[in-house]
Amino acid sequence: MAKRKLTRSENMSRIRSRNTKPELQLRRALWAEGCRYRLHYDLPGRPDVVFLGDRLAVFVDGCFWHGCPIHYSAPRTREDFWKSKLRKNVTRDFTADDALVSAGWRVIRVWEHELRRIDEVVARILSTLGRGNKTYHAEPPFVTNIAESSAQYGSVQPREIIETPRWICNCGSKDIRILSVNGHGSLRPNSRHRPESAELICRECRNIWCVKVSGGPEID
Ligand SMILES: [Zn+2]
Ligand SMILES: [Zn+2]
Repeated sequence: MAKRKLTRSENMSRIRSRNTKPELQLRRALWAEGCRYRLHYDLPGRPDVVFLGDRLAVFVDGCFWHGCPIHYSAPRTREDFWKSKLRKNVTRDFTADDALVSAGWRVIRVWEHELRRIDEVVARILSTLGRGNKTYHAEPPFVTNIAESSAQYGSVQPREIIETPRWICNCGSKDIRILSVNGHGSLRPNSRHRPESAELICRECRNIWCVKVSGGPEID
């Protein structure tokens, strides 16, 4: 079948889907700070913002698509489809990070939800660039230390009861992602539906934990 030329509006909608709102928000804020950068430069994972001279790649990760431990909500239907979709996305992010780092790049991944405090995000990027004159205020301490674990990437530890979705890894990293979820719902303590269990992965040390979610769904 011959390839049809895209109409203008189709073309525009494709452009819009790439230049998503959170990304634009971050770019505007960086621009206002005098940062000059490249967009969607041809690098592994197609970073959203690229500082070519500084070899810094910045991604804005959507909370749903990239497994935010606070906001990921496993859909009720097509459980297997979403499960494998999430795992694929998160794994792809790690692969891109590895490729970038081994090519001498630094990688910053920003959660979409972090853009609510965009000053802190900009400060973090500026200080990574060595241009920080603002102090980066870290988030308040997380309450849950993920279980002691020597598990390596790819293995699964015994289940842990978890009371809260705010995590810190034993390595000190708070950069935790959801790799997969059994059942539907989210890990937020106040959520109406909670999955039975979830696999979490630390972006720094790559340990994976399988956690049993306490409480479980209140209804059903
Ligand atoms: Zn989030
Ligand atoms: Zn870790």
